[in-house]
Amino acid sequence: MIKRIFFLLLIPAITFSQKYKKIHFNAVLVDTHNDIPSSAIEKKVSFDDILKGKTHSDLNRMFEGGVDAQMFSIFCDGEQKDPYNYANQEIDSVYEWVRRNPSRMMMVYNPANFKQAIKEKKLAAMLGVEGGHMIENDINKLDLLFKRGVRYMTITWNNSTDWATSAAFETASLNPSQGGTLDPNRKKGLTEFGVGVIKRMNELGMMVDVSHLGEQSFWDVVKVTTKPIIASHSCVWNLCPHRRNLKDDQIKAIAKGGGVIFLNFYSGFIDSTYEKKIASFHKQHQSEIDALIEKGNQKDYAGMMIAEKYKEEMKLIRPSLSVLLDHLDYIVKLVGVDHVGMGSDFDGIEAPPLELNGVEDYPLVTKALLERGYSKKEIVKILGGNFIRVFEANMK
Ligand SMILES: [Zn+2]
Repeated sequence: MIKRIFFLLLIPAITFSQKYKKIHFNAVLVDTHNDIPSSAIEKKVSFDDILKGKTHSDLNRMFEGGVDAQMFSIFCDGEQKDPYNYANQEIDSVYEWVRRNPSRMMMVYNPANFKQAIKEKKLAAMLGVEGGHMIENDINKLDLLFKRGVRYMTITWNNSTDWATSAAFETASLNPSQGGTLDPNRKKGLTEFGVGVIKRMNELGMMVDVSHLGEQSFWDVVKVTTKPIIASHSCVWNLCPHRRNLKDDQIKAIAKGGGVIFLNFYSGFIDSTYEKKIASFHKQHQSEIDALIEKGNQKDYAGMMIAEKYKEEMKLIRPSLSVLLDHLDYIVKLVGVDHVGMGSDFDGIEAPPLELNGVEDYPLVTKALLERGYSKKEIVKILGGNFIRVFEANMK
């Protein structure tokens, strides 16, 4: 009798576990933002090595996590000398990973390649440039980046360009500690050259990414673009009022144009209490952070390395996965299930939610979505279907 009850209790649990894994591994999962190309340079590691404990991502763990397509972020900050060359070096490294792993990775340039990679069960490797400063005010460089496979450009990173103002810049007067240079004479939004960049991106089929962008620039983009736009790694301002997140009218405008918001997993963008906690953590370890910066590490990466070193302390301040999924629910309620996806920012952030230690934990997202009542059809859209739609619309 005891045995039988035990057996009965066990059945639903096994069934659920099989169900979520089946949905997860059958669905096409696309992540639109992963910073491993630049963080690999900082950490002197290679994506196709075993990097568990050192990074959020590596090639093996992409398969463990059921990630089918990864848009690799080509990133450098506004301080980087020769940002266009630096971007190209990062692109070279992604190409090198693909070259070394022909049976497991494939460069993807268009929807047909994309389908082929999925069919061959290879990781579809795609590129997004995070920051318009990498075109160095030269539209030809935008074309050259497209030729090399770049399929989205984040119009600005935290630094403004000469032709578009960032969120950090536009809000600097409200909160100078959040970065950006405050120049009272600088007009917010896109310049004429900036408008030309958006038009050229539309012509090329390079997706316009509004993550990091200032609100005035955002509305200028919405006015100009003829293709659906994306936020490759942002969350909901109403749930966590951070300048990197989107207000309701912005979310509605993205959805109205057929675009998608890909959720960032960063604790500071999902949990409004996190910023204070991480600030005091950084203060505690300031001398070690300073030493890393002195050695030549980019400032953000120095913070990340220290967070990795003090994992147990970090566990006390990271929010749970459910906090992230509240952002997803919010967007779905506001504009529907067709306009949300995954843009983790893995390897560009020091703290994802507690349950998500790296790309290998992605199946837990599907599990949680199922527990929240999302249907298989909806989960397939969220994990990758919405991306495929917006990618195809841009490449048309
Ligand atoms: Zn970013």
